[in-house]
Amino acid sequence: MFTVKDYRDALAEGYLLASKCRRCGAVQLPPRPICPRCGSGDLESLKAPKRGRVAAYTVIHVPPSRFKGEEPYAVAIVELLEGVRVSGRMLDVSEADLRVGLEVEADVIKLGEEPLLCFRPLKRP
Ligand SMILES: [Zn+2]
Repeated sequence: MFTVKDYRDALAEGYLLASKCRRCGAVQLPPRPICPRCGSGDLESLKAPKRGRVAAYTVIHVPPSRFKGEEPYAVAIVELLEGVRVSGRMLDVSEADLRVGLEVEADVIKLGEEPLLCFRPLKRP
């Protein structure tokens, strides 16, 4: 059984914990106790890949209080595997360079005690 705490603990260690259904193969991120596709409770843990592509994004101009003073900043929905999407703060990219399809890599920063998932553009060698 996966919990939000498992997901946060994994984030704090720098990886993305997902669950994968043993019956139908669907992947959930963050992990779920029950497969939303087929209802099975037979799930295994999976480390999600850290690279993906921006599927959508928005620029935040009026942030929640804990992010006050950091606006404007971008939040992206990133597709890590087919159909597996997660949202995270974008770092190291200007609004002008941010676009759908941009290749990004996940990183975890600390916000106080809280691990925060963020993404940076993938650097080409
Ligand atoms: Zn399933």
